[in-house]
Amino acid sequence: MSRPAVARIHLDNIVHNYQLARSLCPHGNALAVVKADAYGHGAVAVARALSEHVDTFAVACIEEALELREAGIQQPVLLLEGFFTADELPVIADQNFWTAIQRPDQIDQLAAADLSQPLNIWLKVDTGMHRLGFAPEQVVEVAKRLQALPQVRSVTLMTHFANADLAEPAGRIDVPTQSQRLFQVAEGLGLNISMANSAALMAHPRTVQQWNRPGIMLYGSSPLDFQSDIADQLRPAMTLESKVIATRIVEPGESVGYGSRFVADKPTLVGTVAMGYADGYPRQAVEGTPVLVNGQRTRIVGRVSMDMMTIDLTPIEGAGVGSVVEFWGEQLSANEVAACADTISYHLFTGVTRRVPRDYCN
Ligand SMILES: *Cc1c(COP(=O)(O)O)cnc(C)c1O
Repeated sequence: MSRPAVARIHLDNIVHNYQLARSLCPHGNALAVVKADAYGHGAVAVARALSEHVDTFAVACIEEALELREAGIQQPVLLLEGFFTADELPVIADQNFWTAIQRPDQIDQLAAADLSQPLNIWLKVDTGMHRLGFAPEQVVEVAKRLQALPQVRSVTLMTHFANADLAEPAGRIDVPTQSQRLFQVAEGLGLNISMANSAALMAHPRTVQQWNRPGIMLYGSSPLDFQSDIADQLRPAMTLESKVIATRIVEPGESVGYGSRFVADKPTLVGTVAMGYADGYPRQAVEGTPVLVNGQRTRIVGRVSMDMMTIDLTPIEGAGVGSVVEFWGEQLSANEVAACADTISYHLFTGVTRRVPRDYCN
C-alpha cells in the first residue's frame, strides 16, 4: 500500500565507516559530520547509531544542532559555519555547542555576550580556500584576543582544503601549501588544530591532527578521484531503490518520454520506474546512466521526469512489474552515477527528498 521508492540506510555501515575514520587518527579525535541531515541519511538516526562511538558531532548551523539536542543527543555539537546572529550565543552556551568564528564582528558580539558558560571556539583560518576565515597573518592577534575573553574556554585552529580529493591538483592550491600555512601560524600558539576532511584523512596523513572532520566517508562514499585501499574499505550506507510499475515493448523508431531523447533502434522492453527528480534522482543523468535490476546492470533510457523514469529491461531475464531497481548503493557506486550527472555523491545523497522514506536497517 505504498509507493516503492525507498532509501535503505545501513546504520551498521556508518558505524563501520566511522571506526575506519577513527583508525586513521589514532592520536587524535574525529568529529562525526552530520550536517545537511547527515548528508541525507537522517541526522537523528545517524547520531543515535554513532552515539556510543563519537565524542563530538558537527553540523552546519544551530538549527541542525538543536534538532540533535531535541532528539536527546548529548555530545557537544560544533557549528561549522558558525553563528549568524548574536542571539544564538546564549543558546550555544546553554546547549553546550561549539562554534566556528570566521569574521571580526563575531568576536565583538562574543565579547558583549552574557553566557552561562565559556565557549569552545573554532577559529577559522583562510589558508587558500577563500570562502571563510581570517588571513593567516591576522591569526595570532585574533587568537590572543579570543583567549583573553571570559566568554572563551578554548580556541582550536581550523582550516578547510580546496583540493584534498585530487591526485593531481596541478595548478591549483594543494594540501601541502594550505597545511603549511596553518602550521606556520599555529607555531608558538600551542593550540589544537583541525584540518582534515574525509579526503585529507584518507590520503594526506600529515594533515591528521588533534581534531579531524570526516563527513562523506562516514556514508561510505570516497571523495578521492583515485583508487585507495581505504576507499575500498568503505561500506555504502544508502541504497536508493524503487520498483518497475509498468512495462511495454517500444518498437524501432518509437521514442520514450519527454523530448523523445531515446529512440529505439530495435524492439526494446522499457520499464517505467517510480523514481524521478522530485525524489532526488538527478534529471541531468545522461542517456545510458547505469541502474541495477534484480542485481544486474542495465541503463536508463530517455529523460528522467518528476515522478518516473524509464529503463531498458531487454537484457534482464525475468524482469517485469515489481522488479526491484537500485539506483545507487551497495552494488552500484553513487560516484559512478554522479559522474553520469556531472555532479558528486554528496549532491546525490543530500538531494534525496522528503518524499522518499528512509528505511533504517542494521
Ligand atoms: C562538510 C565539512 C567537512 C566534511 O567534509 P567531507 O568532505 O564530507 O569529509 C569538514 N569540514 C568542514 C568545515 C565542512 O564544512
